[in-house]
Amino acid sequence: PGKKVLIVYAHQEPKSFNGSLLKIAVEELTKQGCSVTVSDLYAMQFEPRATRNDIVGHLHNSEAFNYGVETWEAYKRGGLSKDLVEEQKKVQEADLLIFQFPLFWFNMPAILKGWMDRVLVQGFAYDLSKVYDGGLLQDKLSLFSFTMGGSKEKYAIRGDIRYLLWPMQHGIMHFCGVKVLEPHICYTPENVSEEKRKEMLAAWSQRLKTLWKEEPIDCSPEWYFK
Ligand code: FAD
Ligand code: ZN
Repeated sequence: PGKKVLIVYAHQEPKSFNGSLLKIAVEELTKQGCSVTVSDLYAMQFEPRATRNDIVGHLHNSEAFNYGVETWEAYKRGGLSKDLVEEQKKVQEADLLIFQFPLFWFNMPAILKGWMDRVLVQGFAYDLSKVYDGGLLQDKLSLFSFTMGGSKEKYAIRGDIRYLLWPMQHGIMHFCGVKVLEPHICYTPENVSEEKRKEMLAAWSQRLKTLWKEEPIDCSPEWYFK
């Protein structure tokens, strides 16, 4: 109760399974007394490209454009574009970041990757030697909630699903100091019965009821490198 949650949502269709998962999260968390903000990236027509347009006014070095350096400098002088400033404000205020999306090519959809690329600017999310446990977004939690086309059984044969979590959870969230909760994965909602779909939705709602009691996970366990 009283916690602030930002849900960054990347699906084009409100009637989709992802749309239903979003709706459930908003309802359940609101019911708990959390204040919930949603960044509906497609509806916002969120710009995923990291370009010169993200810097308002003069460039630090107009001879050769360097996105990382320019956004860092722009952040320090308050010269980032308005859409980025708004997203950063939402992140800053949040206790928990939930990312809700369908898996695209073992990864997040480009629009959400673009959100990561553009919002988590140096100086805001991390800084020189302020990374991982020292990252600037400490005391925040994150949770990757996604749907997949493939089944759990197929992934068990073709490769451990947990490997694709590493770039997202460890490479992005942990790098910025954000703690990571167990991911929430809905396998193959398109190819199961209506009953099974309802079950999956109920399981998400159920998990959210005790979410604040969960402990963060180790997002870079040793077995990754064996
Ligand atoms: P939807 O098709 O929207 O939903 C499934 C069904 O649930 C629909 O029939 C819908 O009507 C129904 N539904 C919605 N709400 C409810 C409700 N409240 N109650 C009951 N039923 C409901 N998959 C992989 O496994 N690995 C990959 O690498 C991968 N790469 C992809 C790359 C691309 C470019 C694309 C387009 C897809 C890829 N996929 C991959 C598949 C993709 O992840 C799935 O298609 C997606 O996760 C399905 O989620 P959805 O929300 O779009 O499902
Ligand atoms: Zn980690």
